[in-house]
Amino acid sequence: MIVFDLACDNAHRFELWVPSAEALDQQITKGWVTCPHCGTQAVRRLPPAPAVHTASKLPPPAESQRTPTTEPDSSAQTQARLWKLLQKLKQDAHDVGDRFPEEARRIHAGEAPARPIKGQASRKEVASLLDEGILVVPLPPDPEQMH
Ligand SMILES: [Zn+2]
Repeated sequence: MIVFDLACDNAHRFELWVPSAEALDQQITKGWVTCPHCGTQAVRRLPPAPAVHTASKLPPPAESQRTPTTEPDSSAQTQARLWKLLQKLKQDAHDVGDRFPEEARRIHAGEAPARPIKGQASRKEVASLLDEGILVVPLPPDPEQMH
């Protein structure tokens, strides 16, 4: 069986399964084929368009497979970028040890040169620095400490 595209005089399009093109032409000539939309026998076979059929089958499966996989990937990449950024910040930062809250306030007040610093601060000190509008971010541990 082969599927053929047909059209009637009223511009309706429909498909018909027939054993062969010759059989279809015979059925049309004898008036056996009628339009399922308006019932007219004035139908004709449309030229086969294999390229259109092939192309229309391709996109849907690719689309459904792509959607779930892209989102975890991109969020993992974002985390990796953020991680690298924090590691770089940590390398560049001047270590001020437990003078961190004091030094952060001096930089914020313009009493010390603006530069990235790192050091120790209690949660309470970090909270009060944030309250004063000073940006404090927790730095990741050294990679060797994670093993
Ligand atoms: Zn019709």
